[in-house]
Amino acid sequence: MANWETVVVNTDLLICGGGFSACGAATEAAYWAKKKGLKVTLVDKAALDRSGAVAMGLSAINQYVGIKDGENTAEDYIRYVRGDLMGISREDLVYNIARHVDSTVHLFEKWGLKIWKDEAGKYVHEGRWQLMINGESYKVIIAEAAKNAIAAAGGEIIERVFIVDPLMDGNKCVGAVGFSTRENKFYVFKAKAVIAGMGGAVHVFRPRSVGEGFGRSWYPPFNSGSSAYFTIKAGAEMTCQEVRFIPVRFKDAYGPVGAWFLLFKSRAVSATGGDYMVVRKAELENWKPYGLVKPIPANLRNYLGMLDTEQGLGPLYMETSEAIQNIAAQYKDDPKAFKKKMKELESEAWEDFLDMTISQAILWAAQNVKPEEKHSEIAACEPYFIGSHSGASGAWVSGPEDLPTPYKWGYTNMTTVNGLFAVGDGSGASSHKFSSGSHAEGRIAGKSAIKYIVEKGAEPKVDMAEVEKLKAKILLPLDLWDKHSKETTDVEVNTNYLLPRQFLHRLQKIMDEYAGGVISGFKTSKSLCERGLELMVLLKEDAAKMGARNHHELMRVWENNQRVYQAEAHIRSILFREETRWPGYYFRADKPKMDDANWKCFVNCQMDPKTGEWKMMKKDIWTMPGV
Ligand SMILES: Cc1cc2nc3c(=O)[nH]c(=O)nc-3n(C[C@H](O)[C@H](O)[C@H](O)COP(=O)(O)OP(=O)(O)OC[C@H]3O[C@@H](n4cnc5c(N)ncnc54)[C@H](O)[C@@H]3O)c2cc1C
Repeated sequence: MANWETVVVNTDLLICGGGFSACGAATEAAYWAKKKGLKVTLVDKAALDRSGAVAMGLSAINQYVGIKDGENTAEDYIRYVRGDLMGISREDLVYNIARHVDSTVHLFEKWGLKIWKDEAGKYVHEGRWQLMINGESYKVIIAEAAKNAIAAAGGEIIERVFIVDPLMDGNKCVGAVGFSTRENKFYVFKAKAVIAGMGGAVHVFRPRSVGEGFGRSWYPPFNSGSSAYFTIKAGAEMTCQEVRFIPVRFKDAYGPVGAWFLLFKSRAVSATGGDYMVVRKAELENWKPYGLVKPIPANLRNYLGMLDTEQGLGPLYMETSEAIQNIAAQYKDDPKAFKKKMKELESEAWEDFLDMTISQAILWAAQNVKPEEKHSEIAACEPYFIGSHSGASGAWVSGPEDLPTPYKWGYTNMTTVNGLFAVGDGSGASSHKFSSGSHAEGRIAGKSAIKYIVEKGAEPKVDMAEVEKLKAKILLPLDLWDKHSKETTDVEVNTNYLLPRQFLHRLQKIMDEYAGGVISGFKTSKSLCERGLELMVLLKEDAAKMGARNHHELMRVWENNQRVYQAEAHIRSILFREETRWPGYYFRADKPKMDDANWKCFVNCQMDPKTGEWKMMKKDIWTMPGV
């Protein structure tokens, strides 16, 4: 076995991940831990300042309810999420986040985030729930608060350590193992409670950008399904694993469209089909009652555009120039004011990209796009797993203690595994929490986990013989490389190992062709899913044969392994749910209609970590009384 040092870290609370939910958990948990003399340790695979989905920054905070100013209520937010997720949401969790999220946003402002204000000093809204920000340093600001909180409580932040597996003591999570992506160090974290906040997953499906553009995707490539893998491997019940997210974004550089649709009130059209939201409006009747709610669910908006592209009416375009001209038109009688407004709108259009997707600005520049003069192409991306955004996949967690929810078995946000909590993209069926809601959920879980430690937290019992086995398994790819790489003239062709890139292509090919990726027009069926699962068995056999040349490739190997679990949970859930509920995200071609009578329910799944057997379950939908 590779001769790596074993580093043992003892802590009370272990937070896995360093993104928005983990930073929220750290900030809150450290506050309570300090009072109780407990230690909080946060572990991130990257550098906290720029890790996770908000690494590049964002141009809007997507969840702000505005309760204090009477703008909306938490109940309004439940109605919004219920509609957008076609009736499938954990209303207890959505409510809990909605009632706490505003205070999180106020903290962001206090920590230095610039939120746009109008002349009356009110927040500038992009849409009903969204606030405009100067957000290029959004993550840095939120990370700084987490760092300060942990430092003040005497805790520890460990960066560039990739968490792989949970450590278990029966049905209790007692820590995690991982490895340094820089040094020859294998880490063993022993903890009384663990929070999984390692984001969602990208590159499970083949991306549109292949070849020279490979790696480019809407969802940042850093998150590989670690939260899902960790909770699945711990034996936790999972939910909504079929609910992937496919955003429609500016084509090829995946630039955001929110500001265009919401702030600039732009239209999207297909080249020869016109405004598909108007032309195809009647189609929405087929998806009643959700097809008729406002705003129209994101998947249905996608679907109407997809109907045009399927019929060869594309490309799809965002009518940027029309939108800018419409706004500036109110100044048409004053040439000086008109010119000034046009300049302002033009710079806002570019800043929107520069705040969060710089590559889109570069692509616009490279393609001579002037948004005030010419429309710009948009397209549906490949599928992603991001339960905090408009997808819903994640672990099935316990609801808030004070609500009459039936989904309650202990501490808020604890999974069905004792001592293991899940947040952000890691916790399921509570979509539309975005950056601010993920942070708020992290705070809720951080407090709850400390409460669990105070009331139930026994010293973790870790079987070090088991740890040695895990170390051998996790470092095996380095051994395979060392032993066999000199056997062939081309190191990429070898009968004893395959490289992580080669493995990734195989996984993506299976998902793309059988589970409804881009190539199959997001369509799948029972037979396709079953064939996909057959191929997945063979792929999993080869997973143990991945080789790694260095630390970086070792990380790639384990990212791939984690993606495979996310992929399998996804196919199994699509197969189990015998209907099409989210056209525009995926289409079960053999069950093309929504079937509320039989399938207005959650689809949950659970893998037995000992046997690898999966159990599929239906769970009833509970709606918040009076909402
Ligand atoms: C392209 C894009 C645009 C978005 N736009 C907006 C927007 O405009 N407004 C808004 O409010 N929200 C937006 N969101 C949503 C927001 O970014 C997410 O809701 C939020 O980041 C989720 O928080 P999280 O903690 O679950 O994951 P993340 O913030 O992604 O954090 C995941 C963390 O886990 C770490 N990690 C991953 N794997 C491991 C591992 N194996 N070991 C250790 N650490 C690991 C990562 O390094 C990272 O620190 C956007 C998301 C995307 C992808």
